[in-house]
Amino acid sequence: MLEVEETLRRARAALVKAKVWDPEHRMLIVGPVQGGDKLDILGYSATKMGELNFDIYAIGSPTTLLEEYDFSTIVRMIATVKARLPPGKPVHLFGAGHPLILPFAVAMGVDFFDSASYVLYARDDRIILRDRTVRLNEIKVDRIPCNCPVCRKYSVKELMSTNKAERERLLAIHNLYVLWEEIQEIKARIKEGTLWEYLEEKAGGDARVKSALLALRKGLRALLKVIPDESGRVRALHITSLESLHRPEIIRHVERLLNNYEPPQGCIVVVLPGELLDRPYIRDPLIYWLIDQLISNDLLSKVHIIINNPSWVQYRMR
Ligand SMILES: [Zn+2]
Repeated sequence: MLEVEETLRRARAALVKAKVWDPEHRMLIVGPVQGGDKLDILGYSATKMGELNFDIYAIGSPTTLLEEYDFSTIVRMIATVKARLPPGKPVHLFGAGHPLILPFAVAMGVDFFDSASYVLYARDDRIILRDRTVRLNEIKVDRIPCNCPVCRKYSVKELMSTNKAERERLLAIHNLYVLWEEIQEIKARIKEGTLWEYLEEKAGGDARVKSALLALRKGLRALLKVIPDESGRVRALHITSLESLHRPEIIRHVERLLNNYEPPQGCIVVVLPGELLDRPYIRDPLIYWLIDQLISNDLLSKVHIIINNPSWVQYRMR
């Protein structure tokens, strides 16, 4: 806590000096948020730093957590910080250099990353793949399952027989390539509106990633105001299990419905089960008959028909 207070004191002093040194504000200044996995201290630091007008905020280093594949703690850290920082300010995550955590961080509104993981892993003969990390000597096939320039050129045997420094260089290129590829995938998923499905895919293959997804779901409501709203991009939700219903688009939709819906004054609300009705509902014989009856009895303006279809999410939304 003392360190946090000291950083806050220096941060305030730095902002005053920055105004003198850089009156035209040509340099962006980063406000570090400290506390690591001590979430109460982290939250305090985020609140206090957020009150100061930094250009960018950075979350202090989860490198050791990443080394231990403790993704759920990293997710809790990001959630704690994001919920307290001003929503419009960019956020940097230090030391997040693994394809398994990057899409989670992006989904929570992290904008920048930096990491030396590609070199550190290479130094240790560890190979980053999109869905896991393996050691070179654990690969039982001729080639690393990857299409990067290194893996196209060298077999596993050739890599093993290369001297240490050269092997480190080659594996670092491979690792960096995989991270770059992951970033491209995340960008594509954002554009397609399928980032959340991507998180679920990732969680399906690794228990540690699954616990990160559960941690993200738990903290989701507090984050809705500050994480990107992708509802406009989403054209279809692919719901594979009940767990899939805990995603921002659905939570937002339900909240909007609860907050915004009010039956017109003097109307009777009729809720019909929608699973067995044809779509579009207006062409379903039952609905057609019902509306016909309401019109002929001059009741159409007095009844509000709501069709409840829990399986709506399986369909393409328009
Ligand atoms: Zn490769």
